[in-house]
Amino acid sequence: MNSDEILKKIENVLNKAKTEFNQTIDETSLEEIYKNYLGKNSLLNNILHSMSNYEPEIRKKVGMSVNNAKIEIEESYQNLKEKLKVANSKSNNSLKIDLTLPGIKIEQFHQHPITSVLNDTVEFFTSMGFEVVEGPEIETAHYNFDALNIPDNHPARDIWDTFYLKCGLIPRTHTSSVQVRTMEAKKPPLRVIAPGRCYRYESVDATHLFMFNQVEGLFVDKTAKLSDLKGILESTVKHLLGVKKTRFRPAFYPFVEPGLDLDIECVFCHGKGCSVCKSSGWIEVIPCGMVHPRVFEYAGINPSEYKGFAFGMGFDRLVMLKYNVNDLRLLYSGNLDVLNQF
Ligand SMILES: [Zn+2]
Repeated sequence: MNSDEILKKIENVLNKAKTEFNQTIDETSLEEIYKNYLGKNSLLNNILHSMSNYEPEIRKKVGMSVNNAKIEIEESYQNLKEKLKVANSKSNNSLKIDLTLPGIKIEQFHQHPITSVLNDTVEFFTSMGFEVVEGPEIETAHYNFDALNIPDNHPARDIWDTFYLKCGLIPRTHTSSVQVRTMEAKKPPLRVIAPGRCYRYESVDATHLFMFNQVEGLFVDKTAKLSDLKGILESTVKHLLGVKKTRFRPAFYPFVEPGLDLDIECVFCHGKGCSVCKSSGWIEVIPCGMVHPRVFEYAGINPSEYKGFAFGMGFDRLVMLKYNVNDLRLLYSGNLDVLNQF
């Protein structure tokens, strides 16, 4: 063999050793491989032993090459040994389970009280043949005001503290904006509810936030009567709050005629008078009324042919009454200590 052939042979031995080390996953076979390549009778040692047959120059070259290969094999062996040691200690630790440790509590999730009452409300109305519709939260002044018989110069616009966007659109102040949109899109008879968020420029306190939930209701057919409205709303508060004692008072809202407010007997003092009901024994819960003929005209429905009624439930307020929550901000706080109580 000439020197090139011997050097090639040494290189092959080195590569083979590295490949075998890389495929090893346990310490026993690692030691086995080490012995094969660096032990007394290893191939590299045999090459060294046969060096006496070669010229001094070749001996020098081959000797250096064998020593370098030995150093590399030794390094690979030490690295791998360290890695296997670490891996083994990790897997041993993972097997150490302390059976006396207390268990980890699994959190049980549930619906937010507003979502839960809203779902109940939707189910209640759909059982009476109502359908759920939606409208945009960012509205035009047309659907939020004009088409609801509240023209630009109408003093009734002062009732709502409205946010105005730079582009002229409005974060809707009530879900009533869905009324005309629905009447334009669907032909009567109609029975719809429109739950959704509304926005008003309110100073935040225990009963007011700048964002709140409302559920709008609209009923349109040829024979709709005030007594139908009365019956539906009375059964609604009975279902949602368990309240039997109610009263209707005349009220003014530009998009209904006549307009009414539904009051319930105060759930806190049962009519005796308290700070929540301002000693009146009654709490106002649902503004409502018969759809104003002008609103029908805006929606392209003939008011002499169709009648209808509408109502807008301040939904957060109903949730507060149902669960006896005295501060609306608690419902939106995200505080689990509060929410877990429901
Ligand atoms: Zn009261």
